[in-house]
Amino acid sequence: MREWIAIILVSLLFGTIVSILISWLIAVYQPAGFNSPRYEDRRVNNLEWMLPVPDSWPVSEEGVIRTQISPGMHFLSQAVNIYDSLPNSHYFLNRLSHGWPYAALSRYEATSSITSSPPEIHEGLLSSQRHKQGIVIRPPFTNGELRVLPVVPTDGFLRNVFFWGLVSLVSLSGFNLLRRQYRIRNAHCICCGYTLAGLETCPECGTSAKPRRMQA
Ligand SMILES: [Zn+2]
Repeated sequence: MREWIAIILVSLLFGTIVSILISWLIAVYQPAGFNSPRYEDRRVNNLEWMLPVPDSWPVSEEGVIRTQISPGMHFLSQAVNIYDSLPNSHYFLNRLSHGWPYAALSRYEATSSITSSPPEIHEGLLSSQRHKQGIVIRPPFTNGELRVLPVVPTDGFLRNVFFWGLVSLVSLSGFNLLRRQYRIRNAHCICCGYTLAGLETCPECGTSAKPRRMQA
């Protein structure tokens, strides 16, 4: 019984770690079709923009763009007027969610365009408390481009934990059953694997040599 509780706990832990790692791998490698703003060296200063983001973003369903960019990547965007004092400017709040099979972790980013000729595009990441920007890293293989690892769980996170936890549970219990059958067939102790060679009880751990049902 205690063994099964351990297997379930290990599976849930495995599911959590795998869910996070998959989200971060997608964020780092960015599958084809992903057209996110690039954060280059010269924009590092912009990473600390303080934008007064509306608490209840998205503000309404109106003007919200939801897209699945590619498997594992979801994009939610809405134009928000943040600076009323800046004429001809639009700010877009974007929420990018990564994960597989569900979008599990998300991060927020802001883009602004000022209508002039040619239009100026500014990109930045949100750093307000509610809209976390994630963990900014600079992988060695992206020519100096930054990547942002998402940290805000969405409702897909738990689903991914259960999905990968179930995968782990099936693998672990399958391995346990196979090992048990192997040990019975080859006259090894079912508990510790010690060679019994006709003995009634295992000299290593004291388990009875006869295979029995799990004790209550
Ligand atoms: Zn034993």
